[in-house]
Amino acid sequence: MDRLAKLLRLPEGRFLKDYTTTTEEEGLVLKRDETSGCVFLSGNVCTVYDTRPASCRDFPHTLRGSASLQAKMWDFKDRAVYCPIVYNTLEAWKVETDFSPAAR
Ligand code: SF4
Repeated sequence: MDRLAKLLRLPEGRFLKDYTTTTEEEGLVLKRDETSGCVFLSGNVCTVYDTRPASCRDFPHTLRGSASLQAKMWDFKDRAVYCPIVYNTLEAWKVETDFSPAAR
């Protein structure tokens, strides 16, 4: 939050008001919606890529928590809706693993 507020040259309170929201499940998160995705998404590009939050940088969180990557997959489809990094990673994994819906 500090880094993003500094990047946007906004006081912390203004940054929180304009760019974040609180959800019951996740706590404080960046604003997002079903149609335009993350507030920092422009087309298919993260506009704050070099300053993106740690949770974005650490994706797919293979080093955090005790659950396996496979157990965390259920989260990815939701995040792919608002973040191109997640979407592109899932697409790359499909190619890498020769994924085919018919082969399931
Ligand atoms: S990496 Fe994705 S979720 Fe994170 S700030 Fe950028 S567009 Fe938003």
